[in-house]
Amino acid sequence: MGGTPLVEWRTGLDAGDLSASMLTRLCLDRMDCLEPQLNALTHRDREFSLAAAQAADQRLRRGETGGMLGIPFVVKDNINLKGMPLTNGSRIMRGHTSTYNATVVQRLLNAGAVPLAKANMDEFAMGSSGEYSAHGPTRNPWDLSRVPGGSSSGPIVAVSAGYSPLALGTDTGGSVRLPASFCGVTAMRPTYGALSRYGITAMASSLDQVGPVATSAKELALGLSVMVGQDPHDCTSLELPAAARLEDLRPASLKGLRIGLPQEYFGEGLQSGVRDVLMTALSRLASEGAELVEVSLPHTRFAIDTYYLLNTSEVSSNLSRFDGVRFGAREPGESLHGMIARTRDKGFGPEVKRRVLLGAFCLSKGYYEDFYLRALKVRTLITRDFQAAFQHVDMLATPVSPSIAFPLGEKTSDPLSMYLADIFTVTMALAALPALAIPAGLSQGMPVGLQLVGPSLSDVHLLEVSAAFQELTDHHLRIPPFD
Ligand code: GLN
Repeated sequence: MGGTPLVEWRTGLDAGDLSASMLTRLCLDRMDCLEPQLNALTHRDREFSLAAAQAADQRLRRGETGGMLGIPFVVKDNINLKGMPLTNGSRIMRGHTSTYNATVVQRLLNAGAVPLAKANMDEFAMGSSGEYSAHGPTRNPWDLSRVPGGSSSGPIVAVSAGYSPLALGTDTGGSVRLPASFCGVTAMRPTYGALSRYGITAMASSLDQVGPVATSAKELALGLSVMVGQDPHDCTSLELPAAARLEDLRPASLKGLRIGLPQEYFGEGLQSGVRDVLMTALSRLASEGAELVEVSLPHTRFAIDTYYLLNTSEVSSNLSRFDGVRFGAREPGESLHGMIARTRDKGFGPEVKRRVLLGAFCLSKGYYEDFYLRALKVRTLITRDFQAAFQHVDMLATPVSPSIAFPLGEKTSDPLSMYLADIFTVTMALAALPALAIPAGLSQGMPVGLQLVGPSLSDVHLLEVSAAFQELTDHHLRIPPFD
């Protein structure tokens, strides 16, 4: 199949046909042109990016090649990029500038990649649509009347609309996979620990992971190759097996590959158009020798409850640091308590408040055992479901979302229906497993993603299988019609 931007740009840069400055200007001009419609970014600084591009060009002129040298990237606005504002999509962060780089950002910068912009997101990464941002909603490039998905709305749209060949989002319960499915790009939630969380605003620490986004699995792997590896600043980080295969990812053989289809993910509630797209994609895999096997993950029915109990509990604890003392905006108050209450009341949007309250309730005396502790136990059962399935199959294939991207405003007044959009993505987060969303086709003119899920630390193989699918198909090369 044809080329994808990052791979083509890599070749062009190494051959001396392209320069990092030229590519950076191209990306920035595209942003200027499309941002008024898409609202995918929160901050950019032309001089800042062009200075980094010039430094990359010097390295290229000295004969350095490969990796991420000279390749532009965008980061979600809950990831620290030194010298740029960090807003977390929230009013409460007003005036805060990052004083250091997140480890993943530092590693990209060390490799010579060029930072382009900070990207829009649901406030503090809470949301599934990209509508809960203090900067206003982001729009889906495939249909401006629809949501792009969230919470990593900006990073996903940045890749989908061609602002940047690589973007970093975060995935706590599906936040790169869901929007990737809605906007037709490739995004990954790696095994918990495969990417350092140092420098990422903590939402729910036992679930948070950085999620890279690109046009294809091959490009995603190239980006990952410079970011993986243990980090002394994050004690949950680990070495990823087979990381040496990331830089020049080769498609895996599909012959004899056992792919499990969990029956709970293909039942009622799945849009028929989505099902059709997925079935066609799966039969393509089968025609290359993959074996499709039905499996069951019986505790899936508790997934949303479990995720939202644990998520809100961790949120209420993690967000207590935003109190007007240390970060961002401060509202005046007559007492310390009054100042904190006013700052949080004015600074946080409704979804953040809802979660802080729910989480404080779950953790409170008398309810802790019934809610938080019980949810932890169910999390173990969900994890065991996956372990049992992986006794019989090499990986699982599921939908990413029950539907195509929904219209803007459809779910904002109904938090529960918004939470239900995560039905197929939260289980992998609870079980700390790697999962990839890859474009599988269109339904009603809108992209549909296929999710591949592997056992813990099988990230590289998962990418190789995705690359094999992308070698056989061209769904990932489709660009939004408004282009
Ligand atoms: N939509 C989910 C939530 O709101 C996932 C968020 C995320 O992954 N950051 O919790």
